[in-house]
Amino acid sequence: MIPFNIPPVTGNEITYLKEAIENKKICGDGPFTKKCHAWLENKLGGSSKVLLTTSGTTALEMAALLCNIQAGDEVIMPSFTFCSTADAFVQRGAKIVFVDIRPDTMNIDENKIERAITPKTKAICAVHYAGVACEMDTIMTIARKHNLKVVEDAAQAICSEYKGRALGTIGDYGCLSFHETKNFSMGEGGAVIINTGNEDYERAEVIREKGTDRSKFLRGQIDKYTWRDYGSSYLPSDLNAAYLFAQLEQAEKIQMHRMNCWNTYYNSLKELEVSKKIVLPTVPAGCLHNAHMFYILTKNIEERTELISFLKENGVGSAFHYIPLHSAPAGIKFGRFDGKDEITTAYSERLVRLPMYYGLSDVDIQKVIKNVKDFYLK
Ligand SMILES: *Cc1c(COP(=O)(O)O)cnc(C)c1O
Repeated sequence: MIPFNIPPVTGNEITYLKEAIENKKICGDGPFTKKCHAWLENKLGGSSKVLLTTSGTTALEMAALLCNIQAGDEVIMPSFTFCSTADAFVQRGAKIVFVDIRPDTMNIDENKIERAITPKTKAICAVHYAGVACEMDTIMTIARKHNLKVVEDAAQAICSEYKGRALGTIGDYGCLSFHETKNFSMGEGGAVIINTGNEDYERAEVIREKGTDRSKFLRGQIDKYTWRDYGSSYLPSDLNAAYLFAQLEQAEKIQMHRMNCWNTYYNSLKELEVSKKIVLPTVPAGCLHNAHMFYILTKNIEERTELISFLKENGVGSAFHYIPLHSAPAGIKFGRFDGKDEITTAYSERLVRLPMYYGLSDVDIQKVIKNVKDFYLK
């Protein structure tokens, strides 16, 4: 069986974990966390600050706190996303206003955002699906015009760019995930990116350290630390950071491999798109994607179900997502869909993700491709 995903391992993870254990530095903000921060800040272009978190979910929770979301505020986002995107804001008492997506990228339709804005709207959360950028120029223009915060859910988008700028660095805050299904992993983990200057960064440090100024204390800037504001424990163990750092050091190798897989899928399945059997992903001009996933769109949900079971019978794992949030029980309770759901439900029912992971062999990719072709051509 070719699995749908295998968590990445590049070789040095054990060495770095051993080092952390032997040096007795396993709590948060240790040497490996610092190395990851430096690597990420450099990768993101040098003008953003980064803090590792325990997950992409808690990075979003920190962003919601940093946006000062209050009960009754509204936050605009797509319904086609992971539940954490919405839940982080719901926890603060926000109402979620879902907006339809674009059929080409499955990202929020930037032309449908403005009509969803009300006097209660506080923020827009842009999800860069499959590591392909949302139309950020339009989104930022709308946000500035209406004085809204912008959070980029860049959980899938490390190493992706929009017009030369790293995703996660364009809005006020960006959120990364290092879950085992993402390009680089630490088991469970993530990072919040702060693009709003040093004062806000210090606030983020307090929120992440149980509402204390412990970060300043550890830097020797103050001689004791105290409880200053609300917060929680959002910092991961340095053991997880050690695992992540091994991955970041091999980022280029991981990315090159994933990009090869993506291009092989794309080029080999193109003929099925030309003959109108399936639809392949679109990467708009100006967007540099990161080969986070490879998906295809089938004709309808029945065909998708048949394809998934055909692949399974032939030893190929595949997956679909998301059940649109506005139709989930919590989405009904905490949100509303603005306008008409023309694309979200119809397209989400057609989407299938093919195996994509670091180490996926060429033989296995060819087997996946052969099976997809067999399904459509026999
Ligand atoms: C993975 C993911 C998350 C959540 O990240 P975790 O690290 O699993 O908490 C949030 N949003 C999107 C779009 C994701 O893909």
